[in-house]
Amino acid sequence: MKNDPDTMLEDQSQNEGLDSPDFQADETENDEIRPTDIVFNCPHCGHSLAIDYRGAGLQIKCVACGTPVQVPIPDGMKVDDLDLSPGELMTQLFQTRRMLLKSEQRIAELEETLNSVKLRRTELEKARMTTLHRCAELVSMCQSGLKLQGDMANTLNRMVALIAEEQQR
Ligand SMILES: [Zn+2]
Repeated sequence: MKNDPDTMLEDQSQNEGLDSPDFQADETENDEIRPTDIVFNCPHCGHSLAIDYRGAGLQIKCVACGTPVQVPIPDGMKVDDLDLSPGELMTQLFQTRRMLLKSEQRIAELEETLNSVKLRRTELEKARMTTLHRCAELVSMCQSGLKLQGDMANTLNRMVALIAEEQQR
């Protein structure tokens, strides 16, 4: 497959497989790939093809292998978009820009929310660790208390035994 830009653009005369006469009439003699051109590979032979954006969705014949191929519609575009007048395109551009701006604002809001949720989660985790440490400390204090109580009972029993021994003498 050739990816050199000079070999990608197909000659005007080779585009005879086009279905739409309008499309052919619109083709320019410009020899460079424009940013609005659709560049894609023939699904049959892999040859790199470049075509004016108005050819989106149309059937053309691959210049390399002659197989009819459908020109892909660029991502996010509709065939209808390509038939609009400049005025309508401008209206759509404005709407798209507004929606983009709103989306960006919404993304910023969501990121802010996400950050505050993350912060809250970190705080909660810290609080939980503190609680766990305190619980462990309390358990160990209870165990010390029980041990003291046991020692005290042993001592008292021992004293009672000693007193009993003295009484029996
Ligand atoms: Zn082909």
